[in-house]
Amino acid sequence: MTLKTRRTALQKDDCEYVWHPFTQMQEWECQPPLIIRRGKGSYVYDMDGNAYLDATASIWVNVHGHRHPRIDQAIRHQLTQIAHTTLLGLSNPPAIQLAKALIRLAPKGLRKVFYSDNGSTAVEVAAKMAIQYWQQCPTPQPRKTRFIHLGMSYHGDTVGSVSLSGIELFRRPFSSLLFPTHDIEPPYCYRCPLQLQFPQCRLACLEPLKKLLHAHHQEIAGLILEPMVQAVAGIIPSPPGYLKHVRELCTRYKVLFIADEVATGFGRTGRMFACEHEEISPDIMAIAKGLTGGYLPLAATLTTTAIYEAFLGEGHEDKTFFHGHSYAGNPLGCAAALANLAIFKSERTLAKLQRRIPKFRTALELLTNDPWVGDIRQCGYMVGIELVQHKSQKIPFPASERIGQKIAMTARALGLLIRPIGTIMILMPPLSASVKELDQMVSILKLAISVVRASSASSSMEPRT
Ligand SMILES: *Cc1c(COP(=O)(O)O)cnc(C)c1O
Repeated sequence: MTLKTRRTALQKDDCEYVWHPFTQMQEWECQPPLIIRRGKGSYVYDMDGNAYLDATASIWVNVHGHRHPRIDQAIRHQLTQIAHTTLLGLSNPPAIQLAKALIRLAPKGLRKVFYSDNGSTAVEVAAKMAIQYWQQCPTPQPRKTRFIHLGMSYHGDTVGSVSLSGIELFRRPFSSLLFPTHDIEPPYCYRCPLQLQFPQCRLACLEPLKKLLHAHHQEIAGLILEPMVQAVAGIIPSPPGYLKHVRELCTRYKVLFIADEVATGFGRTGRMFACEHEEISPDIMAIAKGLTGGYLPLAATLTTTAIYEAFLGEGHEDKTFFHGHSYAGNPLGCAAALANLAIFKSERTLAKLQRRIPKFRTALELLTNDPWVGDIRQCGYMVGIELVQHKSQKIPFPASERIGQKIAMTARALGLLIRPIGTIMILMPPLSASVKELDQMVSILKLAISVVRASSASSSMEPRT
């Protein structure tokens, strides 16, 4: 079978058998899917050998590039020992070593690691821990059962994590299942709901949170947010000081502060964890995506000694945290994660990033004058470019025009993989991406935007008959 006939057969079977996540399958079936066969560094290659720069980092998980020899080797080595053994009643070396390594790196005060296997679940665990904690802590407060979260936030797809998320589109069909929460307006400075500007605003957006906490703290178990950047919301960085203030308010009102570092963790924002930017420590922290360098599904929920100790007791007291997944602490995943952390050290990943981040910013300036580019938001290697029809009035494109999708498809034909969120173009390169590769990503994106603009201008000039 030639590669081409093999590719065609696979494409047919994909359409016949695979239901893709977050994908309108009716549209998917209209065109042959792109099948990625291999990858190396910042590139992935399709069945025909065409190369694409991976500006999605394989949906935000890849850290040191594809096929990093050290992670490849760590997994191969672990395979000579055992692929999986359970953490229920047993332990294994990589899970133990990784927990210790994570606690060394994590914000101060986090002392215990609870494993799971994806970000949504790590958040679900955080919520359940918080609820049970208030029932079992030294001065129990069982009325504390509600959570606060930000509008537009994304914390995953399980019913609990959707309850904590603020994206209406993902909530609507399941509203009958979701638990009630308090949501507060997110700090979306480009479209500030209060029509104010930083720093003159003096973080006025925190006032509703202060009022809410003042009135209802006795019923509030925890507050969850994505520190520094709301990612799926469209890469929305919080203004300086916001994170620290929220942390202080939570402490003042005895509300557990849950940091969802699933997207921001592992160097994505230029620091190992985004909480470090404002030198804060959460009470509970969820991590996943970059944990294994983008190799295997693994997640963890980290917490403090105080929370952990509330779960201690005699067996008959039923204080146990009754939660655990079949693949928790999977040795292959933990071995990959240990190698991932080792590379941060041996390749001085974070130090290199400090030099490349400003160069990335400079590269992005190429887009500043594009008539469709309304806002460029960057935090480390996380970039969101918000496209608008009218720059000065910030008028968005109607969703029906599918501008983001058209630009992504054009970019793909030019050798760049990018997955937009609506009309926000997202650049999320592996942290190993070189300045040259970052420049290329930006130039291809710029070209793709102008190609789509040219074609939409000519199609709107066509006579309507
Ligand atoms: C991706 C993401 C999740 C969900 O992680 P999964 O591994 O996809 O379940 C949760 N929170 C944030 C902030 C994310 O970006």
